[in-house]
Amino acid sequence: MARVNLDGQTIPMLAICMIGGGGFIGSHICEKLMAETNHKAIVVDVSSDKINHLLDRSLPWAHRIEFHQLNIKSDSRLETLIKASDLTINLAAICTPADYNTRPLDTIFSNFIDAIPVIKYCTENNKRLIHFSTCEVYGKTIGSFLPEEFRKDPKYFILKEDESPCIFGPIDKQRWSYACAKQMTDRLIYAEHAENGLKFTIVRPYNWIGPRMDFIPGVDGPSDGVPRVLACFSNSLLRGEPLKLVDGGKSKRTFLYIKDAIDAVALMIDNPERANGYIFNVGNPDNEVSVKELAELMIKAYAKVSDVPASSLSTVNVTSEDFYGKGYDDSDRRIPDMTIITRQLAWKPRTPLDKLLDVTLQYQHRTYSRAIEREISKPSN
Ligand code: NAD
Ligand code: UDP
Repeated sequence: MARVNLDGQTIPMLAICMIGGGGFIGSHICEKLMAETNHKAIVVDVSSDKINHLLDRSLPWAHRIEFHQLNIKSDSRLETLIKASDLTINLAAICTPADYNTRPLDTIFSNFIDAIPVIKYCTENNKRLIHFSTCEVYGKTIGSFLPEEFRKDPKYFILKEDESPCIFGPIDKQRWSYACAKQMTDRLIYAEHAENGLKFTIVRPYNWIGPRMDFIPGVDGPSDGVPRVLACFSNSLLRGEPLKLVDGGKSKRTFLYIKDAIDAVALMIDNPERANGYIFNVGNPDNEVSVKELAELMIKAYAKVSDVPASSLSTVNVTSEDFYGKGYDDSDRRIPDMTIITRQLAWKPRTPLDKLLDVTLQYQHRTYSRAIEREISKPSN
């Protein structure tokens, strides 16, 4: 039976160029596109590790997915692939905070300069673009600068796409290189839309988490690498080491289950008339915890899926300078306003934090515990 969109129109088959489609979010979009739609995915990435399970030529969707191993910094095939597609989704980025203050040039190039040709090719060839921005473009909340008693008013911390300012720290706090580069890209896209008619949708993810996020250092990533908090805490749990709370773990985040998030992306793909010209916060305001509370919940969830008792797992406070080095700074709080996405796409997140952590830690334990055991039992030289 033909699929229909929110307005009852039949959804046409689309060729979708997914740049950075071999990463965490891209791999989940590809899974959904293959299992539930008839769209074609033209995946562009430097690595296919996270989508290899979808690329087997014996799978029923083999004719609908192709992988192009290329670096968009320096490959003239990019324009041809964008031209051959109906829609481009740009996910390519350096997006791990440990890189923002230690590799600021790579971060700025990846999140701004490298996105420029993608935007240009979409405008020049009249192709629709769904671009991945970040909730981090809002930076710090207004409340973080006010005395404690004012911080409770939602108007000082809820982040609205069309009202909230972008508040970053000074230039020597290089943490903000990512947010600033992403903001510049959002502004470029918006300007291309205003002056040259680019059809765009900007997505602002709020800490989407789930299976396949980042890497476990020493197993499928460098042993001195620092991934995002889910993988950092998973790594400590798998090794039986204390979970490190940066500056006491007082910053707060709202976490969204990746499967809920991908439902929102699918609605954007299939409802261009409702999604074009909009910036969407995509998060779960009901799943807010401090990083310390997240650690406690992850300890509980891990104890359920492993033989390790929660009483043997602990946390330890570390300074941000020791953990990330000079130039680190943090977003204090990130609560998405949901008005625009609810109105335009009737999307709502469904999965509570405890359930999403149960599913994710089951995956982490199943995928990594043996490799870690082998690594730990190796004699050291
Ligand atoms: P990810 O690192 O898993 O995916 C990014 C992918 O882009 C990787 O597979 C990487 O190899 C690829 N890539 C980077 N540079 C490339 C280049 N020059 N050429 C080709 N491929 C390149 O990260 P993710 O979590 O899937 O994030 C995807 C997008 O969403 C990013 O733009 C990120 O900034 C944004 N985002 C994600 C979150 C989240 O919660 N996961 C939050 C905010 C923003
Ligand atoms: N964090 C932490 N311990 C870790 C890794 C991260 O306390 O091992 C904190 C980090 O300082 C930030 C929050 O967890 O306050 C979320 O970090 P993440 O890397 O996931 O990305 P962010 O949400 O800052 O973009």
